[in-house]
Amino acid sequence: MTTTPSEKALVPFVSVDNMMRLVHSIGIETMLRDLAGYVEDDFKRWELFDKTPRVASHSEVGVIELMPTSDGEAYGFKYVNGHPKNTSEGLQTVTAFGLLADVYTGYPVLLTEMTMLTALRTAATSAMAAKYLAPKGADTMAMIGNGAQSEFQTLAMKAICGLKTVRLFDKDPAATEKCARNLAAAGIDVVRCTSPEQAIEGAQILTTCTADKQNATILSDNMVGSGVHINAIGGDCPGKTELAAGILDRSDVFVEFPPQTRIEGEIQKMPEDFAVTELWEVITGAKQGRRDDKQITLFDSVGFAIEDFSALRYIRDQIKNTEFFIDLDMLADPDDPRDLFGMLQRSKV
Ligand code: NAD
Repeated sequence: MTTTPSEKALVPFVSVDNMMRLVHSIGIETMLRDLAGYVEDDFKRWELFDKTPRVASHSEVGVIELMPTSDGEAYGFKYVNGHPKNTSEGLQTVTAFGLLADVYTGYPVLLTEMTMLTALRTAATSAMAAKYLAPKGADTMAMIGNGAQSEFQTLAMKAICGLKTVRLFDKDPAATEKCARNLAAAGIDVVRCTSPEQAIEGAQILTTCTADKQNATILSDNMVGSGVHINAIGGDCPGKTELAAGILDRSDVFVEFPPQTRIEGEIQKMPEDFAVTELWEVITGAKQGRRDDKQITLFDSVGFAIEDFSALRYIRDQIKNTEFFIDLDMLADPDDPRDLFGMLQRSKV
């Protein structure tokens, strides 16, 4: 991945348009499976990475975050926002872009949109966790919160875990209608529900993916029976959670990076020493995932930098020899590296 001095330092850039073309050329379910494979590979080498809770800048209406990590050879970061009020203004709740760089030279090797890619990587990570934690034979999922992430979450569960039925609920019926319409040809049964209680009927996987800047109770304690897997996606910020604390007390909780999840996840409501298992340890086999049919497993997802790093690696590998990127001239590269000023002078017309 090193850049020789004679090469012009152009940086491949994947626009939203090109990302969508790439998804179509690969096929979305194949891409979700492949992405989950990249994430799983990186979780297996978890200890190698630089890890830090993401750097968050909060305002009253949302959050802007930087998510850096490195495996010693490549360095990646994502810029991402979370603004639940945005949809009412015709804007996305979550938008993102990201960059991958070569650690040896420090030069960027990829700049890409990551709004689409975040939805894909979040869904792939959810399904990867469910593959290890959900009860055997789980084929029905309640999908509560039918916004931008919801179809991706559903398709990843289908592609990776064999989901057959999704039961949709959103407080806004128009969101449920949109999600059902988008999934109509996905090859799974789609059931529209009018309450969260109805959505969880017969479901072994309960996904909460709502956006509201408050400690909400999307699932109350009495709604959750034994033997289910909860995929909690929407609680990902201080003061923004989705589950009643009683559910956490009855569950085995699996997290990405505890120092970040304790700030941002469902467990922010729990004592500092609340026991959690790191998902990477389940994937390497160091720790047990699901023990028995009665256990409630809970993936307290907040989204961690390594998942974005995996997604950036995947896109870098996929765009080689394709037309799905343009080269950006974003690095000054004078012939004599010390003559940056001379390069400026010579450029004067
Ligand atoms: P979105 O705004 O497009 O959709 C959210 C949906 O939740 C909306 O349709 C809204 O009507 C619904 N909703 C809000 N309150 C509800 C309630 N009480 N009951 C039922 N439905 C309710 O947002 P999105 O892009 O789909 O993201 C969903 C959530 O996931 C956000 O909170 C976002 O921050 C989070 N997220 C997490 C990760 C992660 O890695 N864990 C990644 C991406 C997004």
